[in-house]
Formats: sequence, structure tokens, C-alpha cells
Amino acid sequence: YDDRDGWIWFDGKLAPWREANIHVLTHALHYASSVFEGQRAYGGEIFKLTEHSTRLRRSASLLGFELPWSVEEIDAACRETLKANNLEDAYMRPVAWRGSEQMGVAAQRTKPHMAIACWEWGAYFGDEAARKGIRLDISPWRRPAPYTAPTQSKASGLYMICTLAKHAAENKGYNDALMFDWRGQVAEATGANAFFVKDGAIHTPTPDCFLDGITRRTVMELARRRGIDVIERTIWPEELEGFEQFFLTGSAAEVTPVASAGPWNFEVGDLTLQLRQDYLDLVNRRLANA
Ligand code: PMP
Repeated sequence: YDDRDGWIWFDGKLAPWREANIHVLTHALHYASSVFEGQRAYGGEIFKLTEHSTRLRRSASLLGFELPWSVEEIDAACRETLKANNLEDAYMRPVAWRGSEQMGVAAQRTKPHMAIACWEWGAYFGDEAARKGIRLDISPWRRPAPYTAPTQSKASGLYMICTLAKHAAENKGYNDALMFDWRGQVAEATGANAFFVKDGAIHTPTPDCFLDGITRRTVMELARRRGIDVIERTIWPEELEGFEQFFLTGSAAEVTPVASAGPWNFEVGDLTLQLRQDYLDLVNRRLANA
């Protein structure tokens, strides 16, 4: 991703793509003092931009560093970056981290930095998978307890677990993995939240040790608008057998149906496809805000 044309917003200025570099003694590289966002632009409009910029600042705060850019400034920087790259439909990646001013675990004297890149990125799991449903492995890796890591932060360090889970799944031919949490409860996929359908109602795990996704909340609102019951609760793996449909939500994944998770199969059903369509209508401004 480093050798191409384009512009990356870097600490207040647009830098040529190939020159947006950092030093090897960057604290973030050694100690994972880094947080990021992921959002999509549709037809030139960045969906729920302010929520993403707000979460970026909060993610950094949870890791103990404050960004010198306000939410409004981050919003403006994202729009500027999208425009500079001449993109209308794109995935955007803001990232913020502690710099190279200090080496060692302690990092009080490091400076906060921020960069924003964007590029074209189609369906996260590919178009066919999005229609037919993806296949999930059951990950041996679990989401950590909130007293083990700042689990409400979109912290890069937490993605070490996701990459391990994703690689193990892909090596076995799956699209992604479903992870349980440290208690053994159903949690989420490696980059998206989980929803289940049974008897016309939607069930989703309580996000008490993983991200309460912006897409997750949007889809819950879209479901309620259609009069569908949305139940947020503890879900145990034993229940997977009884669910009829399963889908994932995320800024990159949008609404993706799941065809199987480990030994359990699910139908790509009407309710999932309806919510998927509602979400695509919403982000493309064919539906009023949710
Ligand atoms: N969980 C994880 C681990 C993720 O990486 C993401 C994507 N940011 C989500 C959930 C969904 O979050 P959102 O809907 O805000 O993109």
C-alpha cells in the first residue's frame, strides 16, 4: 500500500502518498500506542463521519493520549483527504499514534500524530460472498476481558488477536472467524459485529468487551423502524444451533450475511437481506437518517 500515487493527510498537511513515512523508533510500533478508524464515503459523503472522528479521539484518550485536533478538525481533514484523492466512493483510514520522542514503555513525552488515507475498496468479503453468505471459522482466540485491555478503544494492539484469528480461518479456507469472549460467550467477528435472527426477532451480544460498532447501532435502529424486536443480551455458543439467520455489521463489511459458523448453518434470509438493503439505501441517502 505504500508505493502509489495519491495524498495522505499527515499532521495537518497533505503529503504525497510515498512520503507519508514514520521513524522506526515510533513508540506506537514498539508498544502499540496507536488507534484508528475505518469509515466509508458514498457518493462523496462520508457516512457518520462525526461519530468516527469522535470515536478516534475517545480511543486515544482511553490509551492515555489526547489528540490536538478537535472532532471538527478531524472531520474537515477527512473531507479534504477524500477530495484531494478525487474519490467519491472510498474507504477511509484515519490513524493516530504516539511518536518517536521517547523510547521505553513510558511515553508521557511523546507527541501525538495523525494521518488519514483513503482508497477504493469494494465489498469487504467480495460481491459473491456478500450475496451468498460467508463462511466463518470458530476462532480459538478470545476477546479479552475489559479489565485486561481497553476494549472500548479501537486500539491497534487489540487487532493482534483479530489478525491471528483471521489468518487461522483463512488458512482453513474460511472467510473470517467468529470469536467468543474470555467467558466463552459469543462476541464478534475479526472486524465486524454479530447479529442473529430467530422467530422474527434479532439477537445480538451485549458489547461489554468489544466495539459497540457504529454500523451495529445504525442497523439496530433500522430494524426497530421496521418494527423488528432487537434483543441485546448474553449469547452462548450452545444457542447458535437454534438461530435461523446470522449476519455481520461493520463500516467495511456493511451488512454481510453468514452462511455458516463452524458446524452450524444459516439461511441467507429475507430479514437479513432487507436490513442489508435498508443499510445500503441509508448510506446512499435513499432513506432518512438512522
Ligand atoms: N468489531 C471490530 C473488531 C471491528 O474492527 C469493527 C470495525 N470497526 C467493528 C466491530 C464494527 O464497527 P463499526 O460498525 O463502527 O465499523
